[in-house]
Amino acid sequence: MLIRYIIGRPTAPIVPLVLKTGKVSTNMRADTTADLYQEVCEREGQPIKEDYLEHLKQRDLEAWVYRYDMWADNELINGALYDAQHYQKAIAQSTDLPPKNGFACEMCHWRTYCETDPMALNADNWLNTERGKDPTPIKVRYGRTYKELSRARRGFVVSPSELRSFGKCQRLWAIEYGWRLRQMKEGAKSVPRIRGSLTHHVLDMLANKPDLTTHDLRVELGVLVLEMFNTQQIDPAAYDELIDHNGLEEIAKRAVSMFGLAMEGVAEVLEIEKRRVMRMPGSKKWLQGIPDMVVRLDNGQTAIIEYKTTSRTKNLPALADKYRTNPAVHLYAALVRHGQNTF
Ligand code: SF4
Repeated sequence: MLIRYIIGRPTAPIVPLVLKTGKVSTNMRADTTADLYQEVCEREGQPIKEDYLEHLKQRDLEAWVYRYDMWADNELINGALYDAQHYQKAIAQSTDLPPKNGFACEMCHWRTYCETDPMALNADNWLNTERGKDPTPIKVRYGRTYKELSRARRGFVVSPSELRSFGKCQRLWAIEYGWRLRQMKEGAKSVPRIRGSLTHHVLDMLANKPDLTTHDLRVELGVLVLEMFNTQQIDPAAYDELIDHNGLEEIAKRAVSMFGLAMEGVAEVLEIEKRRVMRMPGSKKWLQGIPDMVVRLDNGQTAIIEYKTTSRTKNLPALADKYRTNPAVHLYAALVRHGQNTF
């Protein structure tokens, strides 16, 4: 099955500097775009340097959005299912206070909590946290009728992200999936993650209404971010950072480009964010997941579209290469091939 990764970097490009000499900077490492460079040159009445413009045009092809098509064959899919079953078993057998993985703390947003309360003795009262929603009920076809899968049994129904969380750090899994804690007010540090969620939100809107313009999406994002601020989901610093430098417009633009890349060669959209579930081979446990989109390509092949956003690197092709071995999409492929929709 074909997996199509669409990677976007929803941050604002840097406006080229105007040097003391009045010339526009042609710094080869600048994180800017060809359009922005031309705009500043015109505004400053400076000639455009064609070789620099060409460099930026080439850079634009990979620095902001990037598509990576890859093939998930049976071996990869079966291998991912084999690994997932072992993790699932380990989740089912895990204790109430599973161990921390100190090697994974560096980038973890629970770091302060684990550092100040390493045995999680006071986890019920951790500052600025609340219990998240209960897991979504999942009904599956059962003969001529339906049955609801138990979400209370540890490891009975797992998703690729739950497996990823457990694989990264068992304590992280306990915090987010066992105790179901979430941090309430996001600060400036969380802005890259919030930008990613907003980009996904816009991509969902585009999947349902492809003719929405960047302006429509920008307005929608403005309302959403204001609502997040008013309901104290984000603090003032995060709010300012999100809206500064046309930040929301850049998110909208990036999402439009990502959607355009995703839809190239697509004959039909089969599913948009539909939950799928399958019984694990030779087991009574279940795997569930929500691929971003399932499509049929012009050549008749089925493909899974998976959106990713990043703020950590400008080298999107290198990042795409890292996703090659990400088992989540192989599990999605298994869900599309062998699973059923939920009710
Ligand atoms: S949850 Fe795990 S990875 Fe995160 S800070 Fe705690 S120990 Fe480290």
